[in-house]
Amino acid sequence: MNIENIELRWNLIGNGLKELNRSKILNLLNDYYNTDKKLKGIIKEYQLNLKPTQVVKAFPPFMTELKCPYDGARMLQKLPSRTFPEIMTRKEYCPKCGHKNMEMCRCDNCIEEEKSKRKKCRELIERTYSQENHEKILLSLLSLKDRLYLSALLRATLSEDAKEIKPIKLKENKLAPTKEMEKDILNYLIDRQIIKVAPDSPLEAFPEDGPNYPNTYYIYKVNYLINVQDENLDHEELLKRLEYPSAEEFLSAPEECLILWKEIAYQEVIEFLIYRMDAVGFKFSPGKKTRLVIGQLLKNFSASQIWYFIYISVAYSYQWRRESGVSWKQGANSVITGIETRGQRAIAEEWEVKSFSRNFNLPASQLALVLYNSILQLGSNGYMKVPSKEIIQEKLEKL
Ligand SMILES: [Zn+2]
Ligand SMILES: [Zn+2]
Repeated sequence: MNIENIELRWNLIGNGLKELNRSKILNLLNDYYNTDKKLKGIIKEYQLNLKPTQVVKAFPPFMTELKCPYDGARMLQKLPSRTFPEIMTRKEYCPKCGHKNMEMCRCDNCIEEEKSKRKKCRELIERTYSQENHEKILLSLLSLKDRLYLSALLRATLSEDAKEIKPIKLKENKLAPTKEMEKDILNYLIDRQIIKVAPDSPLEAFPEDGPNYPNTYYIYKVNYLINVQDENLDHEELLKRLEYPSAEEFLSAPEECLILWKEIAYQEVIEFLIYRMDAVGFKFSPGKKTRLVIGQLLKNFSASQIWYFIYISVAYSYQWRRESGVSWKQGANSVITGIETRGQRAIAEEWEVKSFSRNFNLPASQLALVLYNSILQLGSNGYMKVPSKEIIQEKLEKL
C-alpha cells in the first residue's frame, strides 16, 4: 500500500497514536503495510501503549472519492488490517451525518428515507388495490366449482374478524390434498376475480424490483377480499352462503358435481401416491401417464381402494428394485404400471378390493371436507365409494 497517495484525516487519529508526529506515523504505517515486521515489534519500536488488536483501529481514516448521498460530504474509510486486506468490511462512512455506505445502514437519514419510502409504497398499493377500482362478481354467476373452491378457501384462511382471506393460515390449515392443487385453487380464484388483493396487504408481499410495482405480488403473502356481491345480502349473510353453500344446488347438477368429486378423489390418490413413493425413497412427480391411469381407475374404484393398489405396488416395486438392482427411476416407473395392472386384474378377476382408511399423516383437506361432508353428505364414504352420478342423485332425492 502506498501510504503517500492516501489522503489521511489526521484529526481523527485514535488515542495511543496521537503523541506521535506525522512523519513517525507515516513510517509506522509503512512498516505495518509494506514490511514483514511483526506487530509486536512495531509496538515496541514506536513505544506504543496499545494492545496488538488496538493498533489498526487507532490508524487515522482516509478520504474516499465517494460522496454522502445526504449531505455531499466526502466519505471516509478506516484503514484495513493487513492480515485480511481483501475484506474491506469497514465501509465508507460520512463524517458529517454518520451514514454508512451499506444496505443495512441505520443512520437517521436512512431510517427517515426508509419510512417515507414505505409510506409511498403503502399509498401506491392502497391506490392500486382500492375497492373502488373494480366491479364485484354477482353471487348468482358463480359456478359450482367457484363456490366449492371459495368455500374451502374461506374455511381454511378466513381471518378472525371474517373480513380477509389470509393465505398465511394455509401453513396450518390444509386447503387441498396436494400443494399443487392448493396453488391452482388460489390462482383460479384470482383469475376469475372472485377474490381480490386486499389494499392493506403487507408491503413484503410485493417484490420491490418487480415489473410495474405493485402489480406483481406473491400469491401466498398478500391478503384477499371476497369480490362477490348480492344486493339482497349483507356481508355476514353473504359470507354464510359462501362458506356453507347449499347442498341442493350442487346435487341438482349431478354431472358437474361428479366432475368435482372425481377431481378431488384424483388429488387424494396423488397425495397418497407421492407420500408412499417418498416413504421408500422413490423420486416421483405425477405426469400425464399417471393422470390417465388414475382417472381410468376412478371409474371402477374408490380413492381408498386405489390407495390399496398404491400401497401394494410401491411395496412390490421397492422390493423388486432391491433384489434385482434396477435403477431407482425404473423402480419408480414400475409403480404406475403396477397400479394399472392390479386395477385391470381386479376388474377381470372380480376381486373384492380392500379399502384403505385415511392415512393418519394425511388428514382430510378443507376441500374434501366441504365436498364429502357438507355437499355430498357422505362423510368418509366420500373416499370409500366409487364416485358416481347415482349416489349424487340418491342424495338429492333424500333431501
Ligand atoms: Zn452524510
Ligand atoms: Zn445511512
